[in-house]
Amino acid sequence: MAIQDELLAKAREKFPADDDYDKIVAAYEFADKNHAGQKRLSGEAYIIHPISVALILLDWDMDRDTIVAGLLHDVVEDTNTSLLEVEEKFGHDVAVLVDGVTKVGQARAGRDDIDTYLPRTKDNLTKLLVATGADVRVIIIKLADRLHNLRTLEYQPRNKQLKKARESLEIFGPLADRLNMGRVRVEIEDLSFKYLMPHKYAELKKTIDTRISRSKQSLEDVRREVSGALTREGISFRVDGRIKSVYSLYKKLNKHPNIDEIYDLIALRIITDDVTSCYLVLGVLHQMYQPLPGRIKDYISRPKRNGYQSLHTTVETPKGQIVEFQIRTQHMHEYAEHGLAAAFHYNEQKIGGGSYSSKGLAPMPKELKWIQDLQCAAGKLRAGEKVDLDDLKVSLFSDRIFVYTPKGDILDLPAGAMPLDFAYQVHSDVAAHATGFTINGKIARFDTPLKSGDVVEVITRRNVIPHVDWLNKIATAHARDKLRSQLKKAGRLKE
Ligand code: MN
Repeated sequence: MAIQDELLAKAREKFPADDDYDKIVAAYEFADKNHAGQKRLSGEAYIIHPISVALILLDWDMDRDTIVAGLLHDVVEDTNTSLLEVEEKFGHDVAVLVDGVTKVGQARAGRDDIDTYLPRTKDNLTKLLVATGADVRVIIIKLADRLHNLRTLEYQPRNKQLKKARESLEIFGPLADRLNMGRVRVEIEDLSFKYLMPHKYAELKKTIDTRISRSKQSLEDVRREVSGALTREGISFRVDGRIKSVYSLYKKLNKHPNIDEIYDLIALRIITDDVTSCYLVLGVLHQMYQPLPGRIKDYISRPKRNGYQSLHTTVETPKGQIVEFQIRTQHMHEYAEHGLAAAFHYNEQKIGGGSYSSKGLAPMPKELKWIQDLQCAAGKLRAGEKVDLDDLKVSLFSDRIFVYTPKGDILDLPAGAMPLDFAYQVHSDVAAHATGFTINGKIARFDTPLKSGDVVEVITRRNVIPHVDWLNKIATAHARDKLRSQLKKAGRLKE
């Protein structure tokens, strides 16, 4: 089916009312006319891109105006069309969305030097999100836009690939994570990682595939056994498999280099009707199999910061197989996969009909309250009031930083991490012999807090051994554990 037909068919399916459908068709025709003659680097007609973005947004069950704005998202930036024309034809709401996406794009273009680009990007993006109206649908359109650009990144020259991939990994991945759009995050991260470190990607992908095919049969046995037990208990459920993404395996291996100790390459997901059933399932599992200590996590009573909810446990079967389970309700499942987009969907269903603007946002989990803060600040800015961005505490990225080795490998560290944290993440032996560090080519103190985009080099000397004083120059538990055991071994630290 030609992609245009796919768009029209999907639009009709999701928007049976003529009013809605006609507006989407009008947007498609308008974009098609204005992008006429333009081509992408792949040689395809340009219109394929906005159509693809609209298809992604349709998949995420977004509202009509978001689909319309998705189709129009590049007309103001890349054609002679004015925003006013968009507003006249498609209304104020759509114009605000198109304007937001355009501004986010413009302010980020034209700065090609990646080294100076990254450290400033976070702040700029935060400010932009606020200043451009901060209708959270702008972010969602931007994510769909970026996703399609990543899917077609092969046609770009290598330097552009690297720039887009880095930016995606450092900004759009965390952004999707903060919106709890798990599926999007995984795709963005894996695509970016593939372009940044192609060999590592291929190697880890192969590792995952091999291990999956090796454990397929035994996992199927466990699945059958568990299904039987849950059915006997009268619990209604379904079981899904979840395969770890390549990039998350990469990150995990940075912390725990032994792949045999990574138990969640494949996890079984049990999806039930309600919260009580989730705890019942956990109970049944723990009666059948021995749970591993320290691996039971109750994200239902204590959701993650982005609103993610599930029970996690890792068990050992009598045959010695180690399996991770994730237990959640259908609602939690949809929210974990589609995040904010799912929140929109639920809102539509609950209230039914009408356009987004008449309803406002769905009641959001408190973990997503930052979005409301953002919108509130945006409203003030539009009204000409002053907003102190620091007061906003928009902590989009404040909890993670991305740091590079001189070879260009990426390490993902918590904010506040210092050079020794970096070194211990690279390798404990390297860290143990550290005599100094350079950050971006300049000698740096041991207690310098690292920033996203920093390139860190560890200077080592054979005769150096770890010092107790280092314990004060470390921010991560991983580094602390490694250092303590090295100190004990060297007789420099008592129990
Ligand atoms: Mn675009």
